[in-house]
Amino acid sequence: MSISADRTATAAPDNVWEMAQRQLDEIARLIGLNDAIHAYIRVPKRVLEVSIPVKMDDGRLRMYTGYRVQHNMSRGPSKGGIRFHPDVTLDEVKALAMWMTWKCALVNIPFGGAKGGVICDPKVMSLQELEHLTRRFTSEISIIIGPEKDIPAPDVYTTPQIMAWIMDTFSMQHGYSIPGVVTGKPIAIGGSLGRDKATARGCLFVVDEALKVLDRKIEGTRVAIQGFGNAGMHAAELMSKRGYRIVAVSDSRGGVANPKGLDITGLIAHKEETGSVAGFSGADRITNAELLTCDCDVLVPAALEKVITRDNAPSIQATIVAEAANGPTVPEADEILFDRGIMVLPDILANAGGVAVSYFEWVQDLQESFWDEDEINERLRRKMVKAFAETHEQARRRKVDMRKGAYAVAVDRVAEATKLRGLYP
Ligand code: NAD
Repeated sequence: MSISADRTATAAPDNVWEMAQRQLDEIARLIGLNDAIHAYIRVPKRVLEVSIPVKMDDGRLRMYTGYRVQHNMSRGPSKGGIRFHPDVTLDEVKALAMWMTWKCALVNIPFGGAKGGVICDPKVMSLQELEHLTRRFTSEISIIIGPEKDIPAPDVYTTPQIMAWIMDTFSMQHGYSIPGVVTGKPIAIGGSLGRDKATARGCLFVVDEALKVLDRKIEGTRVAIQGFGNAGMHAAELMSKRGYRIVAVSDSRGGVANPKGLDITGLIAHKEETGSVAGFSGADRITNAELLTCDCDVLVPAALEKVITRDNAPSIQATIVAEAANGPTVPEADEILFDRGIMVLPDILANAGGVAVSYFEWVQDLQESFWDEDEINERLRRKMVKAFAETHEQARRRKVDMRKGAYAVAVDRVAEATKLRGLYP
């Protein structure tokens, strides 16, 4: 058996972990956070690095590196996805874990924040190799995960099937089925109805609320969506059913636009047939760059990070930017959009529907009793409407943008829980 080693993780060039900490520092100043609490929540509670030996299909042994970071557990067990990607770094996982703490606090679910990652390229691995990697990684991190401790979920390149393997491995180790150890599972083994569209539905609910605040009607409001995957495609479908007019969409192969409104049912069929929205008939072709600055009322970035920059922020025509994606707006662009009076619904609010329904999945698993989809969607609506109202109130009162408003709500909640619990021992 020959041995090859995957590369070890290094800090990302534009260090996201430092960025996450700086963001917290700014909010700490804004809300007058106590210095001791600030120092406490500025660092992760626990970081686990594991080596994962995997027997590959050709018989060789390959070593992978994986991480699980638990940022904060003051409000409950920690929650956060697991990412399988060649560019995973420990700093990235730490930053994502901290952001999960704020997202869970903002939608007021009793979870802290965590994140996991394995440095690997799932696109070049067989299903069997992926299963071996997942099961051994689960076994290595099983000392710190569990339904009462830390509950993983899907993230980049991890799927419901991978969640099923995590659930099975953890259950086998304990001798009985423990569905509550992970969310985003297939329905057949304790997954929740509504989880697949939850991120998009949550985004829809907060856009509805933003329109109310701006005293605008839903009917005919023009929407442009970048990305046509889980978040983007479902957002297009749900928003168009609600009466919004979807005027432009795109994916990695390009975009299509029609000011009169795109036929979303036809577009989904076209995407399923050809693998892309590009080339859909009855629409003009546009580039991803053009989509961001096209004539619309609501812009929904639902694909990549850092797409709204200092360069294109002055040309954005939308009145509302709803961040279905994580981190689509760079900080300099945020300032430009705020100065231009554009309301940005930040990622920790606009895409929190996913983690909210993950929480519902966990609750249903623990109760061993499952809700129907209408009940799940209504509970989600109430959570999102409340989180929007609290964010908007903070932003208005402090005269800051919605991102700072959302962080102020979230950091304050985590700080309060941390203070009340005091210091152990
Ligand atoms: P996905 O893989 O299902 O879809 C991504 C989409 O982006 C695809 O349509 C892809 O073609 C498109 N895309 C890729 N590169 C592009 C490019 N260069 N230009 C334009 N489009 C491009 O992923 P997803 O689950 O929909 O996630 C999208 C974003 O939403 C990510 O930032 C993710 O972190 C965030 N998010 C998703 C969820 C969820 O529940 N799915 C929850 C919270 C946040």
